[in-house]
Amino acid sequence: MKNILMDPKHQPADSFGIIRNVLFIKLLSEVQKLSYTKPPPTAFICGVYVCGAFFIPLFKPILQNPTMKVCIIGGGLAGLAAALRLKERHEVDIFEKKGHLGGCLASHHVDTYWIEQFYHHCFSGDRHLLDLFSQLHISDRLEWRKGTTGYYANNTIYPLNTPLEILRYPLLSPIDKLRLALLTMRSKRTDPASLDDITAPEYIISEVGKRTYESFFQPLLTSKFGPMSEKVSAAWLIGRIAIRSDRGLSGERLGYLKGGFQVFLDALAAEVGHDCTIRLHDPVIHMAKNTEGWRVNGQRYDAVLSTVPPQVLTSIGGPVLPPVPYQGAACLTLGMEEEYTKGIYWLNMKDPGSFGAVISHTNFIPVERYGEHIVYLASYFTGTLPAQAGHLMREEFCTTFSIPASQVHWERFTVEPLAGPIFTTGYRNLIPHYREKGLYFAGMFSASNYPERSMEGSVVAGYRAAEAISEGGT
Ligand SMILES: Cc1cc2nc3c(=O)[nH]c(=O)nc-3n(C[C@H](O)[C@H](O)[C@H](O)COP(=O)(O)OP(=O)(O)OC[C@H]3O[C@@H](n4cnc5c(N)ncnc54)[C@H](O)[C@@H]3O)c2cc1C
Repeated sequence: MKNILMDPKHQPADSFGIIRNVLFIKLLSEVQKLSYTKPPPTAFICGVYVCGAFFIPLFKPILQNPTMKVCIIGGGLAGLAAALRLKERHEVDIFEKKGHLGGCLASHHVDTYWIEQFYHHCFSGDRHLLDLFSQLHISDRLEWRKGTTGYYANNTIYPLNTPLEILRYPLLSPIDKLRLALLTMRSKRTDPASLDDITAPEYIISEVGKRTYESFFQPLLTSKFGPMSEKVSAAWLIGRIAIRSDRGLSGERLGYLKGGFQVFLDALAAEVGHDCTIRLHDPVIHMAKNTEGWRVNGQRYDAVLSTVPPQVLTSIGGPVLPPVPYQGAACLTLGMEEEYTKGIYWLNMKDPGSFGAVISHTNFIPVERYGEHIVYLASYFTGTLPAQAGHLMREEFCTTFSIPASQVHWERFTVEPLAGPIFTTGYRNLIPHYREKGLYFAGMFSASNYPERSMEGSVVAGYRAAEAISEGGT
């Protein structure tokens, strides 16, 4: 009976009609008993029938889809957001291969504070993320601050925030700057999906010319995607320009939580951990489907939600899906005595090197909160990371900005080989559905994270997959 109820194929709409009709007949017979003395008015009978027709479908999801045992692979944001939605009605186990939750959003604990392993901020348009902060009662921690940007070229730091700074920037002509400004304005009205089949270089050259592409965009694309930069779609680029243009006259408006995003992870984990089983240090190494449902690491589940890249899922026994191209991120975090980027939060490096950006966290969040400056050296890679990458980054940073070794208090090097999809042309066709091939998907590869992954995108992906599970069953 359980299987028949849970399988939508065996749950024709008619079965609700049958229940409704049985109730209707029952009600009529009750009414008949009462009506020996006084027959019921036709309007009353119709009213009973209409009420039944309205209210019974309200219970449809519960009748259709009773409590299931759900396995979530991955304890990052997508997995946790899905668990939050599923836990009310289902029994949920989260398998996480690492010793902590949070995936790409996890933090280092340094003396008295938490700092993200990878630089993070949120955006004013992150509606679901901001709603989740309020659901978790941490909205009072949210602050909006100015995130300044700049370009490092020809051994010089060029701030690019105020109109005057942009006018003064010597590596673009006034015409180039005007075309760039128009492109930024247009980006908000352009549907990124319509540019999925055009490469970013092609599009940029046609919109702002080759010179602007070579001197401004190409270094950014190369530092972000390396040899894959030529294949990245214009959808990614235009989406990125649109999201990064929430700026006033002196910089971009970015959000952060007092105490770091660890506050968010802690609150989310506490809420989820209350009702779900969280299995840390427990990578899924084997899964298979049989007539009873799924077996994951030897345990039986009615439904499985995967938040790991499709190719990882295939390697552990999941179905074969088109592989989503991914890249790795390597990030060296330094605790410093001083700051070296002239107050700029996000400094892009024009010349190729061992890192593509210097992100001075304490030029975004007040240094007093930490008692020292915190700097990230950010780098992306495909394939394998060069040996000694962290060491090379530190050496190059100290040489470029003339920093004595004694200025560095501590360093932590974080490498994530699957840090995000590469949004190449045609990427949209590779996106797995929330429900596909007998299981459920949510993660950085999901539609909600197109054409750029984000915390918001992973929260939404988790919610959508949870809805699909609750509606679709096994
Ligand atoms: C360098 C960097 C900077 C970023 N900056 C921002 C930012 O400023 N703003 C923003 O909004 N977003 C940012 N993001 C994106 C954001 O962090 C991600 O979109 C989001 O955290 C992804 O969550 P997820 O759950 O989809 O994936 P993940 O975080 O990758 O979670 C997947 C989880 O699955 C686990 N796992 C993998 N294999 C297995 C297995 N076999 N068994 C069990 N568990 C497994 C992993 O350990 C991981 O915990 C950034 C990401 C990076 C890498």
